Amino acid sequence: MAPPPAHTAPTRLTLSSWRAVARFPRSPHTFPRTFFSIAHSLAAALLPAACVLCETPLATLGRVPVCASCWHSLPAQSGTLCLQCGEALGAHAFSTSDRAPGDWLCRPCRVSPPAFDRAVAHGLYGGTLRSLLHLLKYEHMEPVAQPLGRLMAAQLAVLPGLPKRLTVVPVPLFRAKRRERGFNQAELLARAVARFGHAHGLALSVDTAILRRVRATVSQSGLTPRRRRKNVQAAFAVAGAATGVKPLHGKCILLVDDIYTTGATARAAALALRRAGAAEIWVTTAARAQRHELAEPVAATPTPMEDDVAFWT
Ligand SMILES: [Zn+2]
Ligand SMILES: [Zn+2]
Repeated sequence: MAPPPAHTAPTRLTLSSWRAVARFPRSPHTFPRTFFSIAHSLAAALLPAACVLCETPLATLGRVPVCASCWHSLPAQSGTLCLQCGEALGAHAFSTSDRAPGDWLCRPCRVSPPAFDRAVAHGLYGGTLRSLLHLLKYEHMEPVAQPLGRLMAAQLAVLPGLPKRLTVVPVPLFRAKRRERGFNQAELLARAVARFGHAHGLALSVDTAILRRVRATVSQSGLTPRRRRKNVQAAFAVAGAATGVKPLHGKCILLVDDIYTTGATARAAALALRRAGAAEIWVTTAARAQRHELAEPVAATPTPMEDDVAFWT
């Protein structure tokens, strides 16, 4: 999923400075540790060590040049959320007449239940969180995945009913796209979630081979929800799965991606995992875009919700 540009574009000078410094610690066996210590101090003295998001001077030069204040200003979802997909429920979205308070689902989840059991996101896609994901995905600032993964793991750990043992599956990129970008941001987040999940008593093992994107898809950015669903329909396959063969039989899966937008990608990937025998499928993303915030062209004829969700089945 490709988000629109971040609200705060880091300056090119600041980012190039970061890259220059970040290259040093990547070759720990080439030079003695003292060299890095000196280089680090020298770089800190010479380079404008400022937060790449708000430009506040940084006290220390770390692998992620983002200040503590920015890390603490990530927007969280508020209000009542759909218990399955995490969508914020407006008063109009559900009827309380036939539902217990603990059984609230959004309309798409009721009309066309997704193949996953539950999707959660650390926070709303906006503000600082949007900028951080922009740094990760488009500026190749890969260390950003670590603090984000820590936050995602902490959120997962307190979810009621979450299995303690999960296979962590990043949403894959198509081979050509993976080669072009050089990394998969979902995989970086998945590895970070698994790493920090252990501190919360979760047994998380990453599997980057089990789920494959079997055909190229255009960027989801700018597409309507309907086009997003058509775009990713049958785009995923599970390795070794065939008629009567269920390689994921009985397994609990944690599907990881950077952003949950309409849920089209999560639904399509979860469907492939479920058909391959997965017993439970949980979804975690760093950010969540609310449906009502998505750009949607005004249709001449309003599309009924039942028709709109038909592609999810
Ligand atoms: Zn900052
Ligand atoms: Zn829902």
